[in-house]
Amino acid sequence: MRIDIYTIFPAILTSPLQEGLLGKAIAGGILDVRVHDIREHAEGKHRQVDDAPFGGGPGMVMKPEPVFEAVTRTLGYGVDELDALQKKIRVFMLTPRGERMTQTKVEEMAALDHIALICGRYEGVDERVLEHLCTDALSIGDYVLSGGEFAALVVVEAVSRLVPGVLGNEESLACESFCGGLLEYPQYTRPAEYCGWKVPEVLVSGDHGAVEKWRRDAAVEWTKKRRPEIGS
Ligand code: SAM
Repeated sequence: MRIDIYTIFPAILTSPLQEGLLGKAIAGGILDVRVHDIREHAEGKHRQVDDAPFGGGPGMVMKPEPVFEAVTRTLGYGVDELDALQKKIRVFMLTPRGERMTQTKVEEMAALDHIALICGRYEGVDERVLEHLCTDALSIGDYVLSGGEFAALVVVEAVSRLVPGVLGNEESLACESFCGGLLEYPQYTRPAEYCGWKVPEVLVSGDHGAVEKWRRDAAVEWTKKRRPEIGS
């Protein structure tokens, strides 16, 4: 799977994309993640990427031209070939005004061959980028970040672990939170007792049937108590 990320702060993404399973998958060629500096596609001596909002108001807005140029040039299309681009590549604007990301959305995205993520800053990005360049608007949750870079990392992390070969143990995908309308059961490891706190007896009983039942019951109880809307 290929993921292109567009940002005016590429350095924010450097280290997270080099670490852990994600870093391994990128180094091993399972994932092709490319970070592009929007500023490199801005015109003029100062490579200005923002300007004051039409109509007044606080803050600045990201200008459309550098974003259109960055995305189309790096993906090999002209600004007059947006239909063709959008047929091949889903282009996501990261914005709190977008569709809220869920595990179902993540599964849908992981099935795509190629996606692009646009990170906004300031008050956001000129709306023509969303209207004419993007195929989707995506929010990682109902809160406002200062920029889309951490949202992009959340997307890459969540989507990539569903790409075959990225996780060391693919079995761990089978029964995670949000699958089958439940949050996951609690997990414990050695030592069986720490500071007088013991792990549930059944988990060290060796009775696999009883363990399965305990886990199922615990998942149902936890979900009902904390996120009752998930199963409904
Ligand atoms: N003025 C915008 C609003 O009220 O909707 C918020 C702009 S925010 C300060 C700057 C950038 O951070 C956005 O353009 C977007 O790329 C990113 N961002 C902030 N919150 C986000 C969220 N919940 N999901 C995805 N991206 C987000």
